Amino acid sequence: MSATTLSAAAIAELNQSLGSGTSLTARIAAIAAQVPGRIAFSTSLGIEDQAVLHAISDANVFIDVFTLETGRHFPETLDTLDASEQRYGLKIRAVYPEARDLENLVARDGINGFRQSIDDRKACCEVRKVRPLNRALAGASGWITGLRRDQSAGRGAVPFAERDAGTGIIKLNPLADWTLAQLEAYIAANDVPINALHGRGYPSIGCQPCTRAVRPGEDIRAGRWWWENEDGKECGLHNRPAHAKPEAHEHLKGAAS
Ligand code: SF4
Repeated sequence: MSATTLSAAAIAELNQSLGSGTSLTARIAAIAAQVPGRIAFSTSLGIEDQAVLHAISDANVFIDVFTLETGRHFPETLDTLDASEQRYGLKIRAVYPEARDLENLVARDGINGFRQSIDDRKACCEVRKVRPLNRALAGASGWITGLRRDQSAGRGAVPFAERDAGTGIIKLNPLADWTLAQLEAYIAANDVPINALHGRGYPSIGCQPCTRAVRPGEDIRAGRWWWENEDGKECGLHNRPAHAKPEAHEHLKGAAS
């Protein structure tokens, strides 16, 4: 449950503010001004989120910045976390899975159980990402993400601001209308630190065992869970069903209680 709720009219006004051709820094400032209560930013430390982090620093507003430390990240991702804290002089809160959940998951499915089936993969994402995210977002009013419409077909209709069906929190996507070219130009112009893997064919970076480099011309999310069907290749962070609860994953009942 969010600490503060915005009316539909206020969300419409926010969409207008964010979509009016303003700079990224101005968008972050508008979010801070128009969304009361705690605003959280969950960064994956990918290129989109690094642009958002830069703008948060530039706007000089308080945003609760955290990252989901799944325990399976590339070393380059953790180096990006460290470099970002030093560059911007702020703390990026590392949110870890619950130890008991993780121990039960690994005991049941094995250390790399996520390759056994889509259900097992989703169970791993649930324990390492979804539940920690829900914990970190508890009580927040707003949730800033780095989603862009042209990242994948499934994200083609992402608005600037909407009420998240799962939590009721106002989900804020200040990069919604940015193209990859715009993003890269912003990163270069501002000398924003980015994950070294972006230069080695990794446009979208998640956990190490579930991410591979893509070939030129491939979809930018083709390197995520590449052994699964194209449909529904999300980890559950951005496409949660309405009224989803951390304990709702049927597959984990008993294993993580
Ligand atoms: S991306 Fe892979 S390793 Fe990371 S939480 Fe999901 S299934 Fe587990």
